[in-house]
Amino acid sequence: MTVAYKYNDWLKKISGNQPLIIAGPCSAETEEQVLQTAQGVKNAGAQILRAGIWKPRTRPGNFEGVGAIGLSWVKKAKEETGLLATIEVAQPHHIELALEHDIDIFWIGARTSVNPFAVQEIAEALKGTDKIVLVKNPINPDLALWIGALERIEKAGITKLGAIHRGFSSYKKMPYRNEPLWQIPIDLKTQYPNLPLLNDASHISGKSENVFDIAQTAIELRFDGLMIETHIRPENAWSDARQQVTPNALKIFLKNLNVPNDKTFDPLILKSLNVLRKDIDEIDVQLIQFLKDRIEKTEDIAEIKFKENIAIYQKERWLDILSKARINAKENNVNLKLAEQIFRFLHQESLKVQHQIFKALKTKKDA
Ligand code: PEP
Ligand code: MN
Repeated sequence: MTVAYKYNDWLKKISGNQPLIIAGPCSAETEEQVLQTAQGVKNAGAQILRAGIWKPRTRPGNFEGVGAIGLSWVKKAKEETGLLATIEVAQPHHIELALEHDIDIFWIGARTSVNPFAVQEIAEALKGTDKIVLVKNPINPDLALWIGALERIEKAGITKLGAIHRGFSSYKKMPYRNEPLWQIPIDLKTQYPNLPLLNDASHISGKSENVFDIAQTAIELRFDGLMIETHIRPENAWSDARQQVTPNALKIFLKNLNVPNDKTFDPLILKSLNVLRKDIDEIDVQLIQFLKDRIEKTEDIAEIKFKENIAIYQKERWLDILSKARINAKENNVNLKLAEQIFRFLHQESLKVQHQIFKALKTKKDA
């Protein structure tokens, strides 16, 4: 997408100015489960039913989806509820079968969007169709790869596009199944303001009790909609049992969902926002000035260390800086993790600057 993506009419047609809600089971399991869940999510306020028909599993031997038979259950669910339906497609023959079963929307999963060969094959199979296609972010945090996948679909002539943020794989110990890294979808939205952006809170959270928190966050960040894995009996689900919610829980969540306005036009509120923003701008100017001053001190230290032949990294000094930052953060009620992260960055930068000075001084000395 070399120019800003222009179309979002499909989104408005389905959900108006409200968030688009896609809900349904991780996997279609039985006809009864699909039909009952569809009724449940319709009743909860969703517009689109999701169901996994072919499941990309991390290891073989797990449930790999019911296959084509599930498509007929989804079709029946559509007819009974009037919902639109979406399934994951990963191979051209999935698209062929889905077209035969009147599936409205296709999504490309995270394990597919990571692979340009696979996306290209899917793009070829989509040529000539007029379907809505949603592309999940690749499992690794690579915005260009995500955009590339969207571009391949767009180049195949698909105009009804959307993106789904489902978080990113990480080895870090964290409370999520997939790290949200919100800045990445926000960067996508900034670059393509008209590209509908949805949030798959289920695959980010991995735990049913945290799904709605993430979903609410996404809506506060002005995402256009949500994908929520929903199952009539989550504890018995054949895949992703731990993260699915019941249609009833979904209904309560959607009833209480706070959808903030994009902008306010109240002059008084605008004025106080502007005053606060001006203050923040000034603080930011000062922050940069502080950074500059700090780097200059580091440069002076590097010169002394070089002259005296002292190692750049001084463990005790680093631990001292960190511990002071922690105490300071605590006393000022600043998030401890944030303070630690900032000082780690500063220290890394300081080591880098000192190393550069060492190199420059050495070249000068050798000359
Ligand atoms: C899914 O939506 O069920 C799924 C497999 O998701 P992802 O591609 O995000 O892992
Ligand atoms: Mn799932």
